[in-house]
Amino acid sequence: MSTTTRTNDAPLLEVTDLVVDYRNGRRSYRAVRGVSFKLERGRTMGLVGESGSGKSTIGRAILGLAPVTDGSVRFRGDELATMKRSQRRALSDQIQVIFQDPYSSLDITKTIGYTLAEPLNHHERLTREQTHQRIRDMVRRVGLPEESIHRYPAQFSGGQRQRIAIARALIGNPTFVVCDEPVSALDLSIQAEVMNLLAELQKSMGLALLFISHDLSVVRHISDDLVVLKDGLAVEQGSAEDMYANPSHPYTQSLLAASPVPDPQAQAERRRLRQAAAAGSHAPTQTPTLERI
Ligand code: ADP
Repeated sequence: MSTTTRTNDAPLLEVTDLVVDYRNGRRSYRAVRGVSFKLERGRTMGLVGESGSGKSTIGRAILGLAPVTDGSVRFRGDELATMKRSQRRALSDQIQVIFQDPYSSLDITKTIGYTLAEPLNHHERLTREQTHQRIRDMVRRVGLPEESIHRYPAQFSGGQRQRIAIARALIGNPTFVVCDEPVSALDLSIQAEVMNLLAELQKSMGLALLFISHDLSVVRHISDDLVVLKDGLAVEQGSAEDMYANPSHPYTQSLLAASPVPDPQAQAERRRLRQAAAAGSHAPTQTPTLERI
């Protein structure tokens, strides 16, 4: 594992040969087996793969919530894996996270106003009025009425709660946000609304996002680049546009074929491709492209 070497032109996030082993007594399980990627400021990296492929583990390793067994995770050139807790705490206004289930990540006993004030108390010296103003602005920005600040999480729908979780992650002006399946628990129509909101905030705030999803159709519109994970390995990575147009790995092809599309005819064609992939035919007669299917 390498030590801290700050350089001014270092990428915002650089993950190199990351290995994560989970230990349970004397047994050890390798969840991530040497994954590398770079994320620049203001860009979005989609991390896709089916359940158990190691996506969340990578997000958690970056956040310091899973062990880095080998390799390195650098933020602006600084090694996160070996960073002291106090240094990491100082970075917590820069690095934020949005989880799948806002209900378990929000404190149900606190009002929304209180929840949104907390990150500001930790990181910024604002007057009481400035804090209130910032909270009201953020609540409006995520599309909720101002009076939401006096209410509790239980008084909101799932989509609204995820908007609150987004507001909490962004209120301290971070540069980088890990989004771990942020819309997977929501209805399809609400998913689209929350994705649009995230994309709009990403642009207007110049955020870098690591967007984790099992569903390629979810990350499609928001990602500049993609890493496709299978069994802890990156089987394909590169520009999202290229990968959609011409997925080279059979696993990427099958993920594409599995992502839901509203058109029944296209859905039938995807089903055919999925069945062909399941039958062991990894070379469909036509390369599946989103334009075609
Ligand atoms: P994904 O996010 O792609 O669904 P995860 O990163 O959650 O995958 O999990 C990758 C693998 O690591 C899975 O086989 C999972 O069972 C295992 N795993 C995840 N968390 C732990 C843990 N805390 N202890 C042991 N194994 C774990």
